[in-house]
Amino acid sequence: MPLKPTSDGKQNTVRPSPLYLEPRLEPLLRSLLETTDFLHTLVDALGSPLNLLLPEQIADNLARFRSVYRKHHLTGRIYFAHKANRSSALVRRLAATDAGLDVASLGELQHALGAGCTPDRIMATGPKSREFLWLAARTGATVHLDSRGELDDLADLVRKHSLPRVPVMPRLSGFPSPGTTVLTRPSRFGSPVSELDDLLDTLERHQDAVELTGVAYHLDTTGMAEKAVALEACIRVMDDCHRRGLRPRTIDIGGGFGVNYLADAAQWEQYTTELTNAVLGRRPALTWQGHGYGLRNESGTLRGALGLYPAHRPVAAEAYLDELLSHRAPTLGRPLATLLLENLYELAVEPGRALVDQCGATLARVLEVRHTPDGTCLVRLEMNARDASLEDHGVLMDPVLIPRSGAPAASAPATTAPSASALPDGPVGVHLLGNLCLEADLITRRLVHLPRLPAPGDLLAFANTAGYLMDFNAGRPLQQPVARKVAAYRQDGAWHWRLDEQYWPLDTTGAATHQGDGRA
Ligand SMILES: *Cc1c(COP(=O)(O)O)cnc(C)c1O
Repeated sequence: MPLKPTSDGKQNTVRPSPLYLEPRLEPLLRSLLETTDFLHTLVDALGSPLNLLLPEQIADNLARFRSVYRKHHLTGRIYFAHKANRSSALVRRLAATDAGLDVASLGELQHALGAGCTPDRIMATGPKSREFLWLAARTGATVHLDSRGELDDLADLVRKHSLPRVPVMPRLSGFPSPGTTVLTRPSRFGSPVSELDDLLDTLERHQDAVELTGVAYHLDTTGMAEKAVALEACIRVMDDCHRRGLRPRTIDIGGGFGVNYLADAAQWEQYTTELTNAVLGRRPALTWQGHGYGLRNESGTLRGALGLYPAHRPVAAEAYLDELLSHRAPTLGRPLATLLLENLYELAVEPGRALVDQCGATLARVLEVRHTPDGTCLVRLEMNARDASLEDHGVLMDPVLIPRSGAPAASAPATTAPSASALPDGPVGVHLLGNLCLEADLITRRLVHLPRLPAPGDLLAFANTAGYLMDFNAGRPLQQPVARKVAAYRQDGAWHWRLDEQYWPLDTTGAATHQGDGRA
């Protein structure tokens, strides 16, 4: 039942059944979010918002991807797509493994090199500036060629500056689909497969400056059929290359393995069903001002398409890779992994979001809890919509309430509406507002259900924000601070932390490793 305003403008006690979207929490992140006092101490010291990172988790995720390679008897590098997070701790932790890094800017390349990632483990992707191309070529990173023009530029740079021959992999796009059932989407990146001959002619002409080591694609989708089409097309392109006497070894299938954000499939299904009902006017709105997330009501008919990340994904991350590799090639008919293996091709992947799954959270302090005359409950946070860009990325997921320790559970602050204190302690639907003087600054346009009313001083933790949600959009509007980053790790059964920039994947105190300075 919806919450109805009574005639005197106060709420009656009929509560809507809460539509929770509980975040999926794996043991490490769950354990961190249970350290109430630790988290409050961190935010007291370092301010709100605060980003937490779990470097151990990224190493764990890497190992899971590696186990899928092993299962299919494949070799090749797993590149972390750096753009998903700017953290130094995560990149340094990966530098201590056999992972590679996919860098898409001059800054990211410098960051990777500075973290200890050697150039043979770096792939420079995306469209590039000349400085970016030069540093990649100068150090010996592999260049993921975005276009024929970029290939000409690179060859020119190599000759002009007497640089070593650069390993390159052209990024391909526009894969023809074998039937009418699979539509491959157009991309502004990469060279169309239809122009392959021209591209290979150019590569041959530039062989003094570049060495073709593989072919690549990255499709910004989690559509399995589309990726199977692209992977099979790349296997054929490799054949064409070998017929010409070129010797590429690697097929790089990019990222887009996806993340499962939610703990419960049924909650996601119920939520999307109720959202549809709300858009059609069959129940009260579930969002700020009836926002439809892409859906709209045209004279009683549902139109548009849900513009949300499919937050509950039964097959994501390394399981998605496993499924793709087991998928039959659309025309050749055999599993894609088998085709790779028979040709002794190496497989490269570039997971961004999936490799930082469960690797972090964003904390924000509750500043104010207010009830409007129509019964809406507003919770204002010490963060803004860019600090956890859930809306921008279409990710719907509940925050975790971390009460200030010692605070009385759930009693409403005295300044709230008179009826509030009469409400029994229990689930409540709230709107989460940011700290900008901007009507649109909502952390999410969704009405969020919390297990109880928060109080000023409590923290809300947005879980699993390390992939794009934490710092991709963060800026300093109104001179509000950008969230600091803290790397948290467990040692001897206790949680410890370092500022992100202070984290290195070793014991930096020196106590255990130094030979001593001569004193006993
Ligand atoms: C963004 C990007 C990725 C990572 O994509 P995810 O969806 O985060 O896995 C990989 N490769 C390239 C070239 C990219 O631009």
